[in-house]
Amino acid sequence: MNKDHNVVWNNCLSIIRDNIPAVSFITWFRPIIPLSLERNVLTIQVPSAFFYEYLEEHFIDIMKKTLRKELGQDAMLEYNIVMDRTSVNAKPYTVKLPAKEGTKLTNQPVSLPLMTDQPIKNPFIIPGIKKVHVNPQLNAACTFNNFVEGDCNRLARSAGYAVANSPGKTAFNPLFIYGGTGLGKTHLSQAIGIEVKNRYPEKTVLYVSANKFITQFSEATRKNERNDFLHFYQMIDVLIIDDVHEFAGKEKSQDTFFHIFNHLHQTGKQLILTSDRPPIELTGLSKRIISRFKWGLSADLQSPDYNTRLAILKQKTYNDGIELPDEVIEYIASSISSNIRELEGALITLLAQSTLNKKTITPDLARNIIDKQVKHTKREITLDYIQKVVCDYFDMNVDVLQSKTRKREIVQARQIAMYFSKNLTSSSLSTIGSVIGGKDHATVLHAYKTVNNLSETNKEFKSYIADIEKKLKVY
Ligand code: ADP
Ligand code: MG
Repeated sequence: MNKDHNVVWNNCLSIIRDNIPAVSFITWFRPIIPLSLERNVLTIQVPSAFFYEYLEEHFIDIMKKTLRKELGQDAMLEYNIVMDRTSVNAKPYTVKLPAKEGTKLTNQPVSLPLMTDQPIKNPFIIPGIKKVHVNPQLNAACTFNNFVEGDCNRLARSAGYAVANSPGKTAFNPLFIYGGTGLGKTHLSQAIGIEVKNRYPEKTVLYVSANKFITQFSEATRKNERNDFLHFYQMIDVLIIDDVHEFAGKEKSQDTFFHIFNHLHQTGKQLILTSDRPPIELTGLSKRIISRFKWGLSADLQSPDYNTRLAILKQKTYNDGIELPDEVIEYIASSISSNIRELEGALITLLAQSTLNKKTITPDLARNIIDKQVKHTKREITLDYIQKVVCDYFDMNVDVLQSKTRKREIVQARQIAMYFSKNLTSSSLSTIGSVIGGKDHATVLHAYKTVNNLSETNKEFKSYIADIEKKLKVY
């Protein structure tokens, strides 16, 4: 039997009216508008978050009783909050969430501060439990099932799984996942969120990139809504912040993040953070934040080994219902070792080419297309990356490389970095010079010639260069 929401709500009202003072009834119940009834969930609209809180505090029992009478024991009530900023006393304080820019400020359904462009229904589910429904911003495709396990990700994956099983209850808090671009940080952190939601649907999970957090924070500051921003984040059970290295230099956002971190950690909530480097290398982040990052577990994602690459390609083609000759898959896996995003990119390019040109995918076609793509990625090696690889190789700091020091080993490392920059990037000599130690183009040219000459005359030196080159080409 399909009941009508108006009928159900009116029935509730007639009982409530008889049980509370008339003034209260007029003040608190008249303004409520029943919106919909879906199975056992009645949605009502209230004028403000304050209104909602007041109802919850003073009338929850009677509302629960009457609703159960109408809809049965598992009746639920959802609130849809309307923000009315023209009204002074309707100052919501728990979750006043900013309306989107450009929308009218009155009578807008509240939208959570993050999230989609449509106003989100903002249900606080009762009876009994005060919960804000937050759109967790999870991508259904990024599951654990789809996250192929390999030597390169075993620790991070299993720690992630443990965290998803008992969020906030393991020693892995925060769980700090780091690794280079395209190695699966976003996928894994999302998978944790999805798994938590599967196991504990009542938990409030939120995935947000550090960049989005920063933008929202400055927006909230501009609108004088910092407290609301803080409160919003402090009620999350499992908070996933992707790419925290983006916090570098953003001191105010860091401060706020620090408070949120502490609050959540102290109340046993789970934090999952990702970054492109380990905590100690996070320059531009305050010491106190970095030290918090080290409280839990840091786990890295490494470049996938050949077998993992093969397994990933097989899984992707299988999921997409595509059949490719083994030889083709093996060719892709052996040519692209840098990261998984590029592996996927190669596969997609290949599929697109074959459908567009109506060619079947043969090993020859694969070779043709992949080789072009691999060359293309080589061109994208950056000056930063070259400096990092060279410095890692000689075990020195990039700062030192870029300094004015004339120490012999450092001069040599600098020259090698310049040599590779000229060879492997399209940057001009003067750009290379100014990035690597503020030198001019003549210095770079001199460095280039020196390295060339030395390679020809000195075997040991030549093998250094070959080693570094190999490392650079893994990129
Ligand atoms: P990051 O955030 O580290 O830059 P992503 O999480 O965006 O990398 O991963 C890049 C792509 O590779 C995504 O499409 C992701 O689904 C895929 N991917 C990463 N790791 C795996 C894995 N272990 N198994 C399957 N797909 C993966
Ligand atoms: Mg990512």
